[in-house]
Amino acid sequence: MASATTTSRTPGGWRCSEHSDRPVELFCRRCARCVCALCPVLGAHRGHPVTLARDEAARVQKLIQECLEHLATKKQQHMGSITQIEGAAEKLKAHAESSKAWLKEKFTGLRLLLDEEEVLAKKFVDKNMQLALQAYGEQVESCKKQADIMNDLSSRVWSIGQEPNPIQLLQAYTATKLEIQRHMSLGELSHPVPLSFEPVKSFFKDFTEAMQSTLQIPLDVRLKENLKCQLSSSSSTKPGTLLKTSPSPERSLLLKWWMQRQRKAVG
Ligand SMILES: [Zn+2]
Ligand SMILES: [Zn+2]
Repeated sequence: MASATTTSRTPGGWRCSEHSDRPVELFCRRCARCVCALCPVLGAHRGHPVTLARDEAARVQKLIQECLEHLATKKQQHMGSITQIEGAAEKLKAHAESSKAWLKEKFTGLRLLLDEEEVLAKKFVDKNMQLALQAYGEQVESCKKQADIMNDLSSRVWSIGQEPNPIQLLQAYTATKLEIQRHMSLGELSHPVPLSFEPVKSFFKDFTEAMQSTLQIPLDVRLKENLKCQLSSSSSTKPGTLLKTSPSPERSLLLKWWMQRQRKAVG
């Protein structure tokens, strides 16, 4: 191997470290050093493969050109990724906005449905109350009529009892007897059957509880369950994360080739 001494620069150009009067003009490929024309013959580089430094420089310049092209390609790749990610971010924001608008519409519809249901349930209560009140009112009217009849009969019976003339009293009593007998049995009492709205309340209690028990489960858990039902096979990539692809085969081949050339240049 060559000594670690370096070539030195003089006003006349680079001089060999071993043969100081000689200019360096060759390149030892084994040691990757610039040497003078004597070195491969007499010096530490005896028998080493050499090329003209100018030729080697031209070869390295070509390599540098390829390296720069490769770096530019890689940079382009990163810029492409940035554009893609930024585009995806914009699309995502727009999608989130439209999804929220869609949800707002659905919830407005749901609220309207519930409002309608509340109105219907209240109407049901009102209608049944009105029907019962009507029946109660009719019963009150009929009871009042009966009370009036009783009133009228008792005043007539009372005046018969006041009759001083026995014949007159008996005749009047006989004439009214059938009517009196008809009313002597106790009349039927009207008990209003209570109307209960408990069934309606119970129905909506169950309805509310079913909804509450669903809403008690955290939303993300419910969505996950729902997704599991929808997708039998889970995708390996999670949406919203970044999928990384390896470079195309041509590109990795190019890189390999370039690395090999680099090694050859040294060896
Ligand atoms: Zn030399
Ligand atoms: Zn050498």
